[in-house]
Order: sequence, then C-alpha cells, then structure tokens
Amino acid sequence: MQKAPINWTNTILFTLTPLLAVTLVPYYGFTHGYGLYEWLVFFVLMGFCGMSITAGYHRLWSHKTYKAHPIIRFVFALGGACALQNDVFHWASDHRRHHAHVDNNDKDPYSAGMGFWYSHIGWILRDFESGKVNFSNIKDLQRDPILVWQHKHYLALVLIMNIGVPAFLGYLGGDIIGGILLGGLLRLVLSQHVTWFINSIAHIWGRQPYSDASSARDNPLLALITYGEGYHNYHHTFQWDYRNGIKWWHYDPTKWFIRSCSFVGLTSDLKRCSPVVIESARLDMQYRYVTERYAASGNSDKWLQRLETEYQQLKATLQLWAQHQQSWYEAKSSELHEKWSHWERLQMRDSYREVKYRLKIQKQRWHELVENFPTLTALHPA
Ligand SMILES: [Zn+2]
Ligand SMILES: [Zn+2]
Repeated sequence: MQKAPINWTNTILFTLTPLLAVTLVPYYGFTHGYGLYEWLVFFVLMGFCGMSITAGYHRLWSHKTYKAHPIIRFVFALGGACALQNDVFHWASDHRRHHAHVDNNDKDPYSAGMGFWYSHIGWILRDFESGKVNFSNIKDLQRDPILVWQHKHYLALVLIMNIGVPAFLGYLGGDIIGGILLGGLLRLVLSQHVTWFINSIAHIWGRQPYSDASSARDNPLLALITYGEGYHNYHHTFQWDYRNGIKWWHYDPTKWFIRSCSFVGLTSDLKRCSPVVIESARLDMQYRYVTERYAASGNSDKWLQRLETEYQQLKATLQLWAQHQQSWYEAKSSELHEKWSHWERLQMRDSYREVKYRLKIQKQRWHELVENFPTLTALHPA
C-alpha cells in the first residue's frame, strides 16, 4: 500500500518545537534561571489553552452541549490559536467525523484502530485520506462571525498568541526570553501532547462502564491532566452532555467552568443526559459482562436466574423512580401549586422518597451480586 504524502509543514513544526523545548528550555534554565513569575505565566497560559480546547473547541463547538456569550467565544478563539491546534472549523470538522465514524480506519481522522502513534500525532504528519478537509459537517459553525474571523486571521493570531503575548508577559516580569521559552515554547508542546493523549490513551487504557460500541475508555488519571476529558467512554456514549465526569467528585474542571459561567449568564442551555438513561446504560453493560462471562464458565442456571430477576427489578425501579421524580418536581414548582392539594403533594413527595430508597437498596444488592465474582470486579467502577 502506498503511504500517504508527508505534510512537511506539520512534520517540521511538530518535530522542531519539542526538540527546541527539550534543549533550549533547560539550557536557559541552567544559564539564567526562571523566576516564579515565568512559571506562573506558564501555568496560566497552559490552563488558558487547555480550557479553550476542552470547553471551547470540544464541548461548545464540536458538540454544542451548551451556548456561550460572544465574550467567552472570543476568548476561546484566542486560546485555540494559542494552543496551535488549527482553527475551530478544521478541529470541529475532524472531531465530528471522529465521533461519527469512531474506530473506522478509513473515515475516523484519528482512528485508534491505527495504533497509539497514529491516533496521537501520526495522523497530523501525513495527508491521509481520512483527514481530508471537508467542511460539510460544520455549516452551523460557519455562521458564527467570531469563528469566521478566527479562520481568516488564524496565522496572525497564532503568532500573536504564541510569541507576542508570552514576550509581552515576559517583558512585564523583566525577562522576555524566559517568558517566550516557558509561556511560549514549553507550554505549546505540553498543551498539544496533553490534548492528543485523549485521542491515543483514552482510546486504549481504561474502563468501559457505559458502552463497548467504541474503543473509548474512562480514565480518571488522564482526566487530571486533560481538564476532565479522561472520562471518554461516557463522552462517546453521551456526547451531547456538557459534562464528561458526571459525579460531583469526578475531576472535570471544564464542567465546573461551564457551570460557573452559567451563574453569571456567560453560558446557558447546559445539556445533561437524564440519570435514568445513564444508569440504564451502566446496568446493561454490567448485566452483559456478567452473563457472558458466566455463561462461558459453564456454571449453574440458578445464579443466572437470580441475576436476571435482580436486573429486571432494578430496571423497573429505575423507570419508576424517574416517573416519580418527574411528578414530584412538577408538583414542587410554584406555578403548578394550585393543580394539587397540599395532601396530594405530600403523597407525591413520600412516594418519590420511597421509590428512591427502594432504588438505593436494589442498587446495593445488585453491586453485591455482581462483585461476588472476582474476575468481574475489575470491569465495574463503584
Ligand atoms: Zn468529543
Ligand atoms: Zn474519542
């Protein structure tokens, strides 16, 4: 098979910048040293680039999981140019194709099926057929004047954000070169590889609690350096949700940022998947894993029957809980107060609480049942 032609601009750029970063940054450190201020510039710009990609390029523009005020969109457009990950049009178009054809080596631009290197950076270094520019899937984004402006002036923005801004910040701290090396070069290389880890590592290592229809994995460790994008199995299963880590204790700063902005009106219309749908997906996956493994081990039907009964009961209670929750929330909201008497509302509240409690108990029982099988525990998050 003939190899795709090398993209020389990208190859030179993405070879040269890491090489310069591992030589010049330590050299200058030993000969001149960096102050706390230069490191602060590094971390601030690192966060700025990272969040512009995760909250902006990814969750806002590629997936439209919420709406954002023009100020926020403008800041993200600058941050994306700073991250040097192409303009929003290219990024979102590739990413929408990644979701639509995930793991399809001919159509997914960074298909994990092609291996670690390819999905991490290899896909950028050659002009592969799957990476061909085709904006037919981003017509909605082409209507945003901020994005049109970013697309038009991308190169100028890249130079301003990667050289101009770090140099200016360095000048303010009294060390222009230090500012460029930490805030420009080192930050650029690290922020790029961190994002690429989501295409490589998050499609190779981790758990698949919600679906195994694609190679995407939940990897909480990766979430720590990717501003919450490590929960990639959840993301590929429910891509319209503005959250990736759905529990309050899941480390997802992108989610916290989007939510915080919504309190002051900078973001709105935050989309979440319903808990019932999420729980059902998890339950179905667990049920499938257990029954398949169990059937393969040739054990008795008695246990399988018990599992089946628990599974059906839990599914039914989940549905019931969703219905009761819905009616209780409706009854609680003030404008509907007249529709129900005080007594009816109390009844609704109590039956909702009852079902909620029943669900909790059944979930505990289900987990105990599943975890009785030591070979399976690794597959199930608590
Ligand atoms: Zn995505
Ligand atoms: Zn992915």
